[in-house]
Amino acid sequence: MPLIVQKYGGSSVADAKKIKNVARRILKTKKRENRVVVVVSAPGGTTDRLLSSAYEITAHPSEREVDMLLATGEQISISLLTMALHSLGCPAISFTGPQVRILTDMAHTKARILSIDTKRIKAELKKGKVVIVAGFQGISQEEDITTLGRGGSDTTAVALAISLKAASCEIYTDVEGIYTADPRIVSFAKRLKKISYDEMLELSSLGAKVTQLRSVELAKRYNVRLHVRSTFSNKEGTMITEKGLEAPGVSGVTYDKDQAKITIQSVPDRPGIASAIFNKIAKENINVDMIIQSASLKGLTDLSFTIAGTDLKKALPAIKVITKRIKAKGVTSSKGVAKVSIVGVGMRSYPGVAARMFSCLAKERINIEMISTSEIKISCAIDEKNVRKAVKSLHREFGLEK
Ligand code: ASP
Ligand code: MG
Repeated sequence: MPLIVQKYGGSSVADAKKIKNVARRILKTKKRENRVVVVVSAPGGTTDRLLSSAYEITAHPSEREVDMLLATGEQISISLLTMALHSLGCPAISFTGPQVRILTDMAHTKARILSIDTKRIKAELKKGKVVIVAGFQGISQEEDITTLGRGGSDTTAVALAISLKAASCEIYTDVEGIYTADPRIVSFAKRLKKISYDEMLELSSLGAKVTQLRSVELAKRYNVRLHVRSTFSNKEGTMITEKGLEAPGVSGVTYDKDQAKITIQSVPDRPGIASAIFNKIAKENINVDMIIQSASLKGLTDLSFTIAGTDLKKALPAIKVITKRIKAKGVTSSKGVAKVSIVGVGMRSYPGVAARMFSCLAKERINIEMISTSEIKISCAIDEKNVRKAVKSLHREFGLEK
């Protein structure tokens, strides 16, 4: 008999009415499929609120205690959702991550799942119960509560689908699937019926915050079909699979706002310097995104790169230290940078896509500050205030609105 894993995001369980709606959907699935395991996030806004309450106490909360605190959010929704199922006459039981031995490493606030002991879940399924598991949390080898990084419930769902050999993994959210562009910006954006893991990975990391990046990586590695759908409608959603639609050319346009650009000026151009700079930044656990180095002039180059805007405060002191050490001239930084990107596996076989993107932005008089590419993506850093214009015109340029 097939087993279904469903995950409901925070906006789907934000209040009592919504929780009851989710319970009715689960019951329907249960009647059809019989075995259902459900992963839920904390009620919408809860994790943010908990996090800010930590910062009201101290600017530097211990990460172990942050995990202890944040894990309580999901405990609210699993218990309430289970009660809602009970009141519909549906047998159900809730579990925290530690209770079902979602074992993780010790990297607090961004832990990785090592294994899941499915014994207890299977026993409850056998008794005919719906099993509700708290997303986003686990327990480390040291028996401490850990969390999996923001949006981590998606990863819990995929990991459970793998461990339980589920027939499918459905991610329920407040949008109807994955779109060719953010529908809030492009009113003609179309829902994609299918998308490949690789495209979805680019989209997740590029700022389309529908699923956590890690969950898609995991789904790809174990070939789990991910079905992204809306909690509030019965539309078919988007299937994330190996192949996707294989649309010719570009599949979607995406953007990521809140980026910061850092330039280290007059960097001595010799072996080992880039390594020294980026190792220092990596040690601070900061992700560097686009990097450009100017041509060397009299043995000196300028090195620019982007990071998440929220990391700027943490990054600058470290970068200033390394700037001094390598005897570069100085550092400048600016916020208000955005990245717009076009993504598509079909780009591989279509020459001239980059040129078309740049011409399109030029026509809109949008200056490109940095460029980076992969096999299936081209990204440009631009001024944040031009994002809407850029996304709209690129969406039109690549014929995505038909
Ligand atoms: N509640 C957590 C968050 O807000 C995990 C999740 O929603 O997936 O990031
Ligand atoms: Mg989420």
